[in-house]
Amino acid sequence: MSATTNTLWADALARRFAEVYGTEPDGVWRAPGRVNLIGEHTDYNNGFVLPFAIDRSALVAVRLRTPASEPEAEADVVRLASTFAPDGAGLSRAQFRIGGLEPDGVGGWAAYPAGVVYALARQAGASVPGFDLLLDSTVPVGAGLSSSHAVEVAVAAALNDLLGLGLGAPEMAHLTQYAENEFVGAPTGIMDQSASLMGKEGGALFLDCRSLDSETVPLPLAEHGLQVLVIDTRVVHSHADGGYSARRSACERGAAALGVPSLREVPAGASLDGLDEETRRRVRHVLAENERVLQVVEQLRADNVVGIGNLLTASHASLRDDFEVSCPELDLAVDAALAAGALGARMTGGGFGGSAIALIRQDDEERVRAAVLAAFVEKGFREPALFTVLPADGAGRV
Ligand code: ADP
Ligand code: MG
Repeated sequence: MSATTNTLWADALARRFAEVYGTEPDGVWRAPGRVNLIGEHTDYNNGFVLPFAIDRSALVAVRLRTPASEPEAEADVVRLASTFAPDGAGLSRAQFRIGGLEPDGVGGWAAYPAGVVYALARQAGASVPGFDLLLDSTVPVGAGLSSSHAVEVAVAAALNDLLGLGLGAPEMAHLTQYAENEFVGAPTGIMDQSASLMGKEGGALFLDCRSLDSETVPLPLAEHGLQVLVIDTRVVHSHADGGYSARRSACERGAAALGVPSLREVPAGASLDGLDEETRRRVRHVLAENERVLQVVEQLRADNVVGIGNLLTASHASLRDDFEVSCPELDLAVDAALAAGALGARMTGGGFGGSAIALIRQDDEERVRAAVLAAFVEKGFREPALFTVLPADGAGRV
């Protein structure tokens, strides 16, 4: 999304804030969702990932309560409103008190902003006053594009600026991870918020999850007449959480059996023969996926964007067959896109539902869309949501 569009959007949100809370906000901050181009289930194995921030974001307008402007009883109250309302109309409102904030103490979507406040206090020693917040987001919720991290990063960016905390992107990445792990209770890694914080327009973020070194790699899609089409299957299978923990355990089991601290330390060419059949396939996926990330980075550095297509498709096959985290809807999305001419396609995110991505030529967009929709109708699956994304800049004040 262009800077002008973001400014217009921020102006509109500030006006809405004034209607809701009766005063102007102190400012407006934006944080994008992300697509993981490749490197799936490698983050918690200390491996490589290559996400990019997308041109869909969470936007927050925030006003801090100042002691002089508030009765004392209200000073540590946080009032929240989101345009994402269950019935599609009105606002979804919530509030909590900062004093005595504890995990499990705040439910619903308020847990994400509350988690950030909690993390700022615990991890950065910040004393956060009450504030009013209005949220509007174009990141689809629950599609695996990290709408939750977009919210957390936007809130963290706002409070970092308003309280003059001077936190850098890596510190904010840790803070929002702490918020999501310790407060919300979701066992996520460092990838999503890193992409949301450090993304660059026209680039992907090559992140080493062991050293946390990161580098922007060019991803000039438009220049090559290409696009990334997201196919949100709009299904989340009930075994998603259990499946995720089981995969993490299998990887830990594999690393222990191979005598290494994490799968990142498995030496090249090491024999996996001593592992049971299932663990061997799990480990094989992680090792091959790390290799594929490096190969994609190499292709992108050589400006061969088309050349990454086969690696994306190979990643999907490995996630489907060896890691077993795909599902019929994701497989259908990938197969239908490839049959209609996509250069490569794969599930993205944790799996068991959520979204797939397809690398397509701009000229093929209508054909691929129609083919995917027709394939879903034929199978009697729920209609997927289709939209294209471009690599965008990370979080900041608008
Ligand atoms: P995702 O893959 O989209 O991050 P999660 O289940 O991790 O899926 O996070 C989705 C949750 O994040 C929602 O259920 C809601 O609590 C919160 N959330 C995300 N976007 C919004 C929004 N615009 N308004 C309110 N809550 C939101
Ligand atoms: Mg999430």
